[in-house]
Amino acid sequence: MILLVGAVLLLPSTAHASGARISSGFALSSRDVTAMIQPLPKSVQERILADTEGFFQLVARALDERPDFFLLVDKAHALPPDYVPPDLVSPADYSLSVSRRDVTLRKAIMDAAVQMSRAATADGVTLLFSSGYRSYEDQQSVYRREVETYGQAAADRESAHPGYSQHQLGTAVDFGSITDAFAATRAGKWLALHAEEYGFSLSYPDGFESVTGYRHESWHYRYITRAGTRLQKEYFGDIQQYMLEFLHANRKMLEEKRRSH
Ligand SMILES: [Zn+2]
Repeated sequence: MILLVGAVLLLPSTAHASGARISSGFALSSRDVTAMIQPLPKSVQERILADTEGFFQLVARALDERPDFFLLVDKAHALPPDYVPPDLVSPADYSLSVSRRDVTLRKAIMDAAVQMSRAATADGVTLLFSSGYRSYEDQQSVYRREVETYGQAAADRESAHPGYSQHQLGTAVDFGSITDAFAATRAGKWLALHAEEYGFSLSYPDGFESVTGYRHESWHYRYITRAGTRLQKEYFGDIQQYMLEFLHANRKMLEEKRRSH
């Protein structure tokens, strides 16, 4: 019997001795890796190349999670109008604080949401779940209302066209007031520090409008699993968009080149 050894990757000169060989769970050449990370900012590329093995270990863990937790939904990537998550539930039924009774989210994220909410409560902070799943039609009305109120240019900085909203996934949550004032509240500060520990990631961070397409939304978090928040923080400069774009572009190849485990 022949044992499969990990793929051999040749690293460019880094902290390791030049030409150091490392293994990973993927049969990828250094050329494959270079091509995969090429669209990413230089700083992110360097971070990945400095610890390729650790990077692919976390990528493997993210691939073990449900793919729909990592679907790229942004200004260029839409969901079909009839995409409806299969397992919508009411967070109110899980003793979470909701601003409206009709807030719904995917059951698949409720364990994480409940744990996060309990941890916040233990710290004396209440997390108010103000908005969750939005259907294509709901988003259509939200967007229209924003355009009517603020004009199209302003609306486009914070409201998605129908089909292009993370809320249609049922894994995105708007907390508290859904206004800029949220960032300075206790809940806003608590989430900024701790959401990642429960797999929730700030989708539209401050200073990255040119990357995400949206201005800073301190209230909008998306569940991307704990493997996802670690991957995002440790290798993608803590920018969800970079990580989701990477997985979107490379998932097929990564799954094909993954060694049996
Ligand atoms: Zn939102």
